[in-house]
This record gives sequence, structure tokens and C-alpha cells, in this order.
Amino acid sequence: MNLLTVLVLNLIFILITTFVFQYIIINKFKALYQRLDKLLIVLLAGSQIVFCMTFTLINNPDFIFDLRLIPVVVGGLYGGPIVSILLFVIVALARFPFGGDGVWVNFFNMLTITVFTSYISLKFRSFPLAKKLYTVVAVAISYTLLIFLMKAAVFKDPNDIQFMVIYGVTLTVGIFIIVYYIEIMKQNLVLHNAVIKSDKIEVVSQLAASVSHEVRNPLTVTRGFLQMLKDPSIEEEKRLYYLNTAIDELDRAETIIKDYLSFAKPQSGIASSICVKEEIEKAMELIIPYANHFSVSIKRDLMEGMFVSGEASKFHQCILNIIKNGIEAMPNGGDLEIGCRTEGKQATISIKDTGCGMTPQQLSRLGEPYFSTKAEKGTGLGMMVVYKIIDEMNGRIQVKSKLEQGTIFKIDLPLYDTEKREI
Ligand code: ADP
Ligand code: MG
Repeated sequence: MNLLTVLVLNLIFILITTFVFQYIIINKFKALYQRLDKLLIVLLAGSQIVFCMTFTLINNPDFIFDLRLIPVVVGGLYGGPIVSILLFVIVALARFPFGGDGVWVNFFNMLTITVFTSYISLKFRSFPLAKKLYTVVAVAISYTLLIFLMKAAVFKDPNDIQFMVIYGVTLTVGIFIIVYYIEIMKQNLVLHNAVIKSDKIEVVSQLAASVSHEVRNPLTVTRGFLQMLKDPSIEEEKRLYYLNTAIDELDRAETIIKDYLSFAKPQSGIASSICVKEEIEKAMELIIPYANHFSVSIKRDLMEGMFVSGEASKFHQCILNIIKNGIEAMPNGGDLEIGCRTEGKQATISIKDTGCGMTPQQLSRLGEPYFSTKAEKGTGLGMMVVYKIIDEMNGRIQVKSKLEQGTIFKIDLPLYDTEKREI
């Protein structure tokens, strides 16, 4: 292989692996990265070093040329001193099999670079973009000069100027592209988070406007009925009807406000351990009269001693909302089964009904604010609240539903870890 082929191959490998690394982490394993960032950076940069030194140019028995400097510097600067030192060990060991004086040149140069990156890495993340870029460019140029000077001065090996320029330029441009690219990806992530946040703020303010509208309706109706009750000549039967309707409407207003508040209210952040069985049983106590009213029988199969992390009142409401929907889906009676058990490190809660079920279109709209098929009786806020609470608890909901056959909700939540306090 000639020099240019080696350098291009190295650069493409570093670019692709860095891209895949960032892309996967941003999209899938953010939590894992937050915990194991140093280890993951060592794995990424370490594999890049090994690749570069596998596809290297053996210039003469003493010297090999490739872009191993890029992962050593970039990994060290983003990973910190410990990562720098580990990468130094990898790059120094990987040079041994090739032998020659280059082993010591590499050892000395990489040691100098490691001392520098370890020191700079303490502040590197807070540098503005331009400063980051010229730091790495300066490292690449100094490194190029250093190796060619050593080659000429210490080992009396005459340098080919063209070779040196191609190597130096590729290394410098390469490191510039990688750091610039990492920074752009990081900015994207910050923007992405800001958009998600502003989306939520928008939903909350839209909801605030429409909630006040929604609440006004039942209040107006209640007011109307109370007004009519003022009439002393009103028949007893009618009076009772007016009173019941007024109470129903007030209940409805209360439900809307409760649902809205639990959506808009920020997380208190105080997560404690919740006993799943206990919370489900509390929710059942409240709901049993409602179930009896619709001739729904409830079966339960609840495992003891299962704990998840979160806010008990929110979790309780979430279970209540799902059970309530299940009962409402069976106006002519049916069975509702509630179970909870552990699956590996997960708590799995399942709530199954034999009710009216949903069409695929309805299923896909589940959780949208105001999506309800219950006309006057529904608020369309219950499931939105459920999704938000489970999301806050780092859980997942799966729903399967068949029209006229029933629906199953399966909620997976990470188990509360008594040693780590939270997962
Ligand atoms: P609401 O109950 O006020 O209508 P939700 O957000 O709780 O609002 O539910 C939204 C819609 O999802 C319901 O109107 C109903 O059409 C559907 N749905 C929810 N749970 C079930 C279920 N268990 N079976 C059938 N349909 C359901
Ligand atoms: Mg509901």
C-alpha cells in the first residue's frame, strides 16, 4: 500500500466508527453512555488505533506511518486523563510487534502527547469550538515536525519532503474534520433536547388554554341546574335529577383538572421505592365499586416484594387510569386481569380486559391529548398522563388490542435497586 491509500483508509475507518458511535449513543444508549463514557471511549479509540496500525505503511524497517495519532489525541481530549493514559498503553504496546527504532520514537512521542492531552483534557470540553480546533491542529503539526525531526536528527534518516507534507496535511485535516464533526453532533444533541423541551412547553400551554375551556362547560351546566333548583315548586324527582347531574358535571370538571395537573406538573425529582403490589391494591380499592357497577370482575395475580423507583401517587394514578379504561371498555360486564411479576431486571405489569378493543387507527392515536371515543364522558387525557408517567419512570408500554376481543397493556419498569438506590 502506498502512503495515500493508507491514510485515506485510516481516515475513513475513524470517521465511520466515530459516526456510528455518536449516532447509536445519541439515539439508543444515552443512559449507558452517561455511566460508562470513559470505557466506551477507550473501546472506540482503542479499536481505531489497532485498525490504523494494522493498515499501516511500513516505510523502512524502523518506521511505520498511519493516523494512530488521531484516536490517541481525540480520545484523550474528550475522555480525560485516565482515558489518555490507557490509550497511551494501547498505542505503545501495539507498536512492539513491528520492532525497529520506531518503537522508542513512538513511545517517546506518544508519551509527550499523552502528558499534553491529559493536562488539556481537564479544560478541553469547555473550550469554544475555534479553540478546540486550533488545539488539535497544533498538536497534529507539532507531532509531524517532531517525528520527521527525530528521524532526520537522531536516526540520520533523510526525509522525503513530499512524503512529509502528504502525511502532515492528511493528519491535520483528518483531526480537524473529526473534532469538527464531533462538535456538530454534540450541538445537534443539545438542539434536539431543547426542541423536545419546547414541544412539551407548547403542549402544556395549549392544554392550559383548552383545559379552561373544557372546564367551563361542566361548570356552566352545573350552574344552570343549580339555578333551576332555586324554584321551590320543582318536583322532587326532577330536583334529584338536577342535583345528580350537577354533581356529575362537577366530577367531570375535577377529572379534567386532575389529569391536566398531573401532566403539567414537573417531576418533583424525589423518586422513592414503590411497592408495586401495594400501589395496585390501593388503586383497586378505589375502583372496585366502579367495576361492580359495570359487572366487571377483577382477577389479580400480584407478586410480593417487587419494588420500582418513582413517585407513588403518580404511579397509582397511572394504574388507575388504565384500569378505568379497561372497565369502561366493558359496559356489559367482563373480566379484568391484573398481574405483576419480575422478568430479569424488569418489573412487568399487565392489565388485560375483554372489552370492545381498538382498531389499529385508534391504537395508534392512544396517548394523544383529547383522543377519546367516549364523547361527552371522556376527557382523552388519561392515556396521555399514563405515557408521561411511565416515560418519567424510564419504563415502556406495549399495547395489544383486537376489536371486540379486548386489550392488553404491558408495562415494563426497571426494578428498584436497593444497592445503587436507583437504576
Ligand atoms: P378517555 O378514557 O377519557 O376517553 P383516555 O386517554 O383514557 O381517555 O383513553 C383514550 C381512548 O383510548 C379511549 O377513549 C378509548 O377509545 C381508548 N382506550 C383506552 N383504553 C382502552 C381499552 N382498555 N379498551 C378499549 N379502548 C381503550
Ligand atoms: Mg380514560
